[in-house]
This record gives sequence, C-alpha cells and structure tokens, in this order.
Amino acid sequence: MSKDIQDRIKKLVREDIRSLDAYHVPDSQGMVKLDAMENPYDFPASILDAWKAELSSININRYPDPKAQKLSESLKGFLSLKDGYEVLLGNGSDEIIQMLIACFATDNSSVMSPEPSFVMYKMIAQFCKVGYLGVPLRENFELDLEVFLRKVEEEQPQIIFIAQPNNPTGKLFEHNHLIDIIESSEGIVVIDEAYTAFTDYDATELMYLYDNVLIMRTFSKVGMAGVRLGYLVGRSEWLNEIDKLRLPYNINVLSQTLCNIAIENYDVLKKQAEEIVRLRAEMLDQLKRIDGIHAVESETNFIVIRLDRDKVRVTAKLLSDKLKERKILVKVLSGSHPLLENCLRLTVGLHEENAGLIQALKLSIR
Ligand SMILES: *Cc1c(COP(=O)(O)O)cnc(C)c1O
Repeated sequence: MSKDIQDRIKKLVREDIRSLDAYHVPDSQGMVKLDAMENPYDFPASILDAWKAELSSININRYPDPKAQKLSESLKGFLSLKDGYEVLLGNGSDEIIQMLIACFATDNSSVMSPEPSFVMYKMIAQFCKVGYLGVPLRENFELDLEVFLRKVEEEQPQIIFIAQPNNPTGKLFEHNHLIDIIESSEGIVVIDEAYTAFTDYDATELMYLYDNVLIMRTFSKVGMAGVRLGYLVGRSEWLNEIDKLRLPYNINVLSQTLCNIAIENYDVLKKQAEEIVRLRAEMLDQLKRIDGIHAVESETNFIVIRLDRDKVRVTAKLLSDKLKERKILVKVLSGSHPLLENCLRLTVGLHEENAGLIQALKLSIR
C-alpha cells in the first residue's frame, strides 16, 4: 500500500517539488519569540473590543464581500491614493507575490531581486516554474548598482522585487539606485515596504512618477501577523489585470471587519511601532558593546548580527541552539546565502525580552 503511494507520488508530483523542503517553522511553545518579526505587544484592547462588538452582526454563513469594498475604500483613504490608482488585497503579501508572479512571469528568467532578500520571491518563482535571478549584494549588504543594472539590461525581467528596507539585512537601498533600476527596467518593479512602519522611507512618490512601479505593504509587522492581510497599490490598469488571478473570497469576513477598525485606529498601532523603533536603538547600542559581535544598523523591527569568529567560539547555529536552551528563539541566517555566514537575525521584542537576549548572548558566545 505505502509503496503504491510512493510510486504514485513519483509519477504525479513534479520532481522539482518533491526535492523541495517544506517551509520550516520551529515550535515556539513556551519560547521568547524573536525569530519572526512579530510585534511583541498585546493587540490594542480598544480595537479588539470594537471588533467583538461588530462580530454579532456578521453573517458567517455568507461569503464575504468578494471585493472587500469597504476595506479597500478605507485603505485608499488612509493612503490618500490619487485618482487612477487602486489597491489590491491579499491573504498576506505572500499571496500578492504569488499573484504577481502568476500574472507577469513567463518561462524564462522573469523574476529578479537582490540577494539575500525575502525568500518568498525565489520560492514562489520556483513553485510557478518561472525563471528567477538573484543578484548578489555587496558584502556590506548594499546594492552593487553596476552589476544589478547590467543584469536588468541583459535579462529584462518581467518583475523585479525590491524589499525596501530589505529583509534579512534590515538596510535601506539608496533611493537614487531604485530610480536607476526603475528607469532601466521594461518590466514591473515591486517595492516591498513590509517594514514601512519602522522607517521614514516611503517610495510612494516613485509610484506616482513611474507607471511600472507597484508598492506592496502588509499588516503583519504592525501587530497583525495572525490576520494575514497584505496589499498592493499602483495604477489601476495594472491592478485590474492582477485582480483577475485573485481567488474571489481571499480576504475572509473576520479579517475584513478587523482591518477596517484597525485602519480607523491606526495611530494606536503606529505608536507601538514607534516604541519598537526606540527599543531597536537601545538594542543596537547594547549589541555594539559586545566584543565579537558586529550589529548592522536597521530600518526594520529586527537587527542582523555577524559573529567575529576570531573572537567568538560558537557558530551562528550553535549560538542559536544555546539561546534555545535559554528559551529564546532567533533566526539563523548562516547557510541561506554566502553573504550571511556567521549571521543571525534578531527580532526586536519587549524591553525585558531584549534585555534577556543580550544577557543570554553574552553568556553563550564564549
Ligand atoms: C514579512 C515580509 C513579508 C510577508 O508579509 P505577509 O503579509 O505576512 O505575507 C513580505 N515581504 C517582506 C520583505 C517581509 O519581510
């Protein structure tokens, strides 16, 4: 019986899928979670209460509004979108990346992004059997503009993804470099602003200047990771095309209702993000004082550290294991890209969580 299934799997599941590993999420029961860029604060009770009050009038037995009209309109107002521009909602921005690739990509080298960057660009391109080209950053995690532009011209990719600021480096790319990339690209340039709440940078003006620019954002990093809501903004001509690939009821009624209230009360979430920015500065300062650890400046809610292996005895993996023994979960970056050797990614947590992390790091590296 089980041999039968194995045979059939071999016959029916694409070989490139069989050889993939499923996206691994570590068990976090009882752990201090500093691995996934979540907002550590409790969700604001004021928003939660308002949502609960509305829940009784929701028709759970009915499909949700397929276009999530009310939420889309309130987002457009929130962003002060100009005429001719639209929003498209996704079940997380991951789903939007999937729609974008399915919509624009062809068989050849169609998706491009700097590397290291957000892994989903490459993974979803692979799922869709679409060509993907990652262009290595410099050692300091900055863009090698000359190389990047050359690749754009050689490949003319259908879509370029730029995470701004970048994950997993935490750094912003230079605005002028983005302009050069946009101007040399005949395809779509998606600027992924997942961390917009933690930086003053904003690419909106590029979207208004260039009609091949789309901006993608998410509610995940501002305290709503569990809700799964991402959105894309850009010229309505583009979004109308992409919308054809959207599954009709992709945003469920609970999310639609909650996100509406969250937008009306965004200042509460924004305050939490501002507090995280303050904690980030504090954490960076303390990391910099640890001999043997190089901490990278960040415009996000996480900080990348690199271990100086002349001074630090443990590898990144071993350090992560030692932190795990102390009930702290962080992300090992070593092994995911050559530029990330000896690197770990630390999400900024609550003040006391960060203090615990710093203490545990000091104890674990020697
Ligand atoms: C976290 C993250 C996302 C994923 O967002 P979801 O809305 O949770 O799917 C997208 N892009 C980047 C760069 C991220 O770091």
